[in-house]
Amino acid sequence: MTEKFIRNEHLNFIKKQIALIKDSAKKNVPPTVLAAVIELANAKILDLFPNISMDQQELLDLSRLKTDNEYVQYIQRLSSFLLPFPKLTEPQLKKMFPKNKKLKLPDLSKIDLSHLTYLSWNDLGSNKKFIVYELDGKMVGIECRFITTSKKNICSFCNSFSEVTYFSTVTKAKKSNNPDYYKSIGNLICADSSECNKKISNVDYLTTFLKDSLLM
Ligand SMILES: [Zn+2]
Repeated sequence: MTEKFIRNEHLNFIKKQIALIKDSAKKNVPPTVLAAVIELANAKILDLFPNISMDQQELLDLSRLKTDNEYVQYIQRLSSFLLPFPKLTEPQLKKMFPKNKKLKLPDLSKIDLSHLTYLSWNDLGSNKKFIVYELDGKMVGIECRFITTSKKNICSFCNSFSEVTYFSTVTKAKKSNNPDYYKSIGNLICADSSECNKKISNVDYLTTFLKDSLLM
């Protein structure tokens, strides 16, 4: 079994489930309660992967793990089945932002693609933030304005409490009676997208936001 099938956000989700199990164990809950917590975690993890083989189910099964070390090894084992973020070249990125003639690109050689749900970088000179994501099998990119807030709040993408920036994008949605009106969408998201990629465990909001913004 060598096929990679686990996404970054899946692995983050699994890590969160392990944290819940460890938290229950630490509170010395009765063994039956702890067993139920583990069983529920297992079920939630398997729910992420509707079409997997028996081997893959076996790999994901965490019901027999007990020690911290076993959990560490389990995560290491799963990490070798991580689907990396698609490799992109600079021309491919430029093509995603055809209107931006002065597009500032990230240093692709410095980005760890294996733990990435979405690719994002900032152009501080123009206060622009770029997000690239594989949406329904197609790579899409979006350009947003951002304002640094240096405040802590809940990130819309990963749902954790962290340093956020406010970013807004103007969508293609128009009001039929007002040709000058374009709908704008604003969000608070993690200022540091590599931290956000370590925490994001669900892409529902990210995909909805991109679909709304790109009118897909
Ligand atoms: Zn975040």
